[in-house]
Amino acid sequence: MIGLNPLKFWFVCGSQHLYGPETLEQVADGARTVASGLEKDGRLVLPIEFAGVATTGDEIADICRRASADPECGGLILWMHTFSPAKMWIRGLSQLTKPVLHLHTQLNGSLPWDSIDMDYMNLHQAAHGDREAGFMHTRMRLGRKVVVGHWSDPEVQDRIDSWMRAARAWNDWQGAGIMRFGDNMRNVAVTEGDKVAAEMAFGFKVDGYGVGDLVDKMAEFSDAEVEALANAYAEQYTLVPELQPGGEKRSSLLDAARQELALSAMLKAGNYKGFTHTFEDLHGLNQLPGLAPQRLMEQGYGFAGEGDWKTPALVRALKVMGHGKSGATSFMEDYTYDISAPGKELVLGAHMLEVCPTIAEGKPQLEIHPLGIGGKADPVRMVFNSKTGPALNASLVDMGNRFRLVVNKVNAVEHPDLPKLPVARAVWQCLPDFKTACAAWILAGGAHHTAYSLDVTPEMLDDFATIAGIELALIDENTSLSQFKQDLRMNEVYWHLAKGFTV
Ligand code: MN
Repeated sequence: MIGLNPLKFWFVCGSQHLYGPETLEQVADGARTVASGLEKDGRLVLPIEFAGVATTGDEIADICRRASADPECGGLILWMHTFSPAKMWIRGLSQLTKPVLHLHTQLNGSLPWDSIDMDYMNLHQAAHGDREAGFMHTRMRLGRKVVVGHWSDPEVQDRIDSWMRAARAWNDWQGAGIMRFGDNMRNVAVTEGDKVAAEMAFGFKVDGYGVGDLVDKMAEFSDAEVEALANAYAEQYTLVPELQPGGEKRSSLLDAARQELALSAMLKAGNYKGFTHTFEDLHGLNQLPGLAPQRLMEQGYGFAGEGDWKTPALVRALKVMGHGKSGATSFMEDYTYDISAPGKELVLGAHMLEVCPTIAEGKPQLEIHPLGIGGKADPVRMVFNSKTGPALNASLVDMGNRFRLVVNKVNAVEHPDLPKLPVARAVWQCLPDFKTACAAWILAGGAHHTAYSLDVTPEMLDDFATIAGIELALIDENTSLSQFKQDLRMNEVYWHLAKGFTV
């Protein structure tokens, strides 16, 4: 995937100097065993580095300062092998700017019932050492993930993996840029938002460009370069006859390839991780870019239509979280429903053109059809059905005083053929059920634009919201509408006051 930074996670073991060098040597050995043991089954997406046993406030502050300053440190995994008086941690944790996972584990899984003595008890104190740490984290209102269980437990490792993926996406957002052609599609509300607040909250910027910059860039590519890319399409996709060499619409495919070359060059030149454009501002373009966003999303860029700059950032974040899994993450829009049979309702998701082929079942087909909006020539697009299975939709909305991440678990399902539908599509059922899910989504203010993924789990997005310090509104198999409404009301109060709780 484009633009992924190297990243590792520091494993920090808390203790105190009172135990003396002999015991601390055993603590260090135990901590090394846990740190390397977490990795050895290969369930973690990124490496762990043992960062030492911290026994004083100065050591802890030093670790936290170095972690914060290290661009390759994705976060800290903390574990108290023994007791570590937590006032020692205040200074360090106050300076820490990286995500935290508190692992509540123990070196040994079993108690040696026949031989246990006080020496053993004093060496294996996480049961209360981690409670002392937990109090301090809670007292400082430190957003963190707490994972409990023996370090060899696959479920424990999978939960750490989810957090690593969220932390990786968070790291990816810091200093990232979204390229934006034109402004918002006129009068659309949910795709608007405060870009200053977003950069403060999330660390990514949004840079505006005129579509004329894209038109100029397109002119820089030779016909031979364009032809070469169009020929490469034929190796990956099925082309309808009119787009094949000599076909009557071949020039439209060449035009789409030229758009891709220019967009790709501009994204690379500015080191961007996503982009958006709007069909209301296409001066100098012959067709709305459709194939190019599909191809660029496939390479790892985030995208959304109509000037929506939040959803490209979110699509990118989900692509980073899912990296190394199936790769199936796309920009999506709830388009239309089959609600003829209560209890069996289906949502048809698609967009005008731009659905990412990473979610495609089988080989996409390159087609060309008229587009009834934008007033331009027929655009080229890939058409395909989505893979099926557990998936989710996520939407990032600006509530005015904060951001809210709305997430709905869904199941992507098989569906009848759609011979007349000229766009890529996915069909899903919502959890817990269509009526509850849609009512909850609408009450939460979730957008029609989403990041859709078959890789990313609610746990990853929960971890991501915790790291970002934003509200998560999760709609899943456990959602009841009355409780969800109450949670939204409580969240209004909590997030309004939250900044004041740390003092
Ligand atoms: Mn749209």
